[in-house]
Amino acid sequence: MQKFLPARVFYEPEALEYPLGKDLVARFRGLGILVDATGSHNRVTGIPGKTPGQSYREGKHTLVIGVRKGKTFQSCKPSAHYQLPLVTSCPGMCEYCYLNTTLGKKPYIRVYVNVEEILAAARTLTESRLPDITIFEGAATSDPLPVEDYTGSLKRVIEFFGQMEKARFRFVTKFTNVDSLLEAKHEGHTRFRFSLNCDSVVKAYEHATPRPQERIQAAGKVLQAGYPLGFIIAPMIRVEGWRGEYEVLLSSLAEELAKKAPEHWTSQNLSFEWITHRYTTRAKNNILEVFPETTLPMDEEQRKYKYGQFGYGKYIYRPEEMAEMKEFALEMTEKYFPGAKIEYFI
Ligand code: SF4
Repeated sequence: MQKFLPARVFYEPEALEYPLGKDLVARFRGLGILVDATGSHNRVTGIPGKTPGQSYREGKHTLVIGVRKGKTFQSCKPSAHYQLPLVTSCPGMCEYCYLNTTLGKKPYIRVYVNVEEILAAARTLTESRLPDITIFEGAATSDPLPVEDYTGSLKRVIEFFGQMEKARFRFVTKFTNVDSLLEAKHEGHTRFRFSLNCDSVVKAYEHATPRPQERIQAAGKVLQAGYPLGFIIAPMIRVEGWRGEYEVLLSSLAEELAKKAPEHWTSQNLSFEWITHRYTTRAKNNILEVFPETTLPMDEEQRKYKYGQFGYGKYIYRPEEMAEMKEFALEMTEKYFPGAKIEYFI
C-alpha cells in the first residue's frame, strides 16, 4: 500500500508557530505539493469537485494543518471517556465509513500540530477524575495511522500515556504502517486495535485501504511489540459464503498471532468487537450519491427497522439472521482465540 500523499495542503497561519506545523509546511513544499494558507481549519475553501463523487475524492486528497483550540474534549461513551483530537478523516474510502455523514461533502484530512497542548489538556482531564482511570480514544473521528509517517504524533501520544499512571489510550486502524510505533514506550497503556473484514468485503467496499492479510501481518508486529491488542470486525456482512470467509479471516489471524506471540502470551489478552452491517436512511442516501454503483446490501425490505434516539433509526439484519451471525461470531472467536474478551456483538 502506497504512503498517503496529498494532492494539496492548507495550513492555518497559527500552525507555523509550532515546530511540527513549520516542519510539515516546509516538507510538503519540498515535495512540490501545492501548499496554501487557509483562514480556518473548519472552513476550507479551494478544494475542487463539481459532483458529490469528485468532491469526496478531492477532499480525501487534501490535508489541512491546524491548531486545536479549547481545553476540553468531546465525550466518547461508552468505550472511552474522551476523544483525543489529533486527526480528522482519513485517505481511505470505505463506502460505509461512519464519518461519511459527519464530515461534510469534502471530508479533508486534518491534523493538529499543537500536540503538547492537547496532551496538557488530557492531563488536566485525567487529574480531574482521580483516583479513577480515564480512557482516551484516538480514532473517534479518524484513522490516525496514514498521516503518522508525517507527524509522528501518535508515537508521542502513546509515550505520553505510557507515563500516565491513571490514563489509558486506545485507537483503531485499518492501516499497516506500524513500524514507527513498535519501539514506542507504551508500557501497556495503549490498546492497539485493528479493524478487519473478510476479503471480498474489503475488496468491494474498503477502497484505498490495505488488504486483510496486510492488516493481519501488522497486527502480528504490534503483538510482538507487547501492546494490548484488539480487533473490530465490522461491518459483518452476509456476502455469499460469509461463514467460510469470516472463518478464513479468523484462522489466518490466529495463525499469524501464534507466530508472533511473546512467550506466555494467551489469547485471553485479546479483545473483539463485532458489528453487523446497519445503515440509516441518511447514510444510504449519502453512499448512493458518492458511490452510485455501490453493491452494498441496502434493501429495506430485507431488514428490520430499529428505532434510535432522536429519530435516527437504523436498518439492521432481521432477528433470525442476527441470531445466526451472533452464534457464529461467538463460536469462531472462542474456537480460534480461546478466552478472548468479546466486548460486544451488535
Ligand atoms: S479507514 Fe476508517 S476512517 Fe478511513 S474511510 Fe475507512 S472506515 Fe472511514
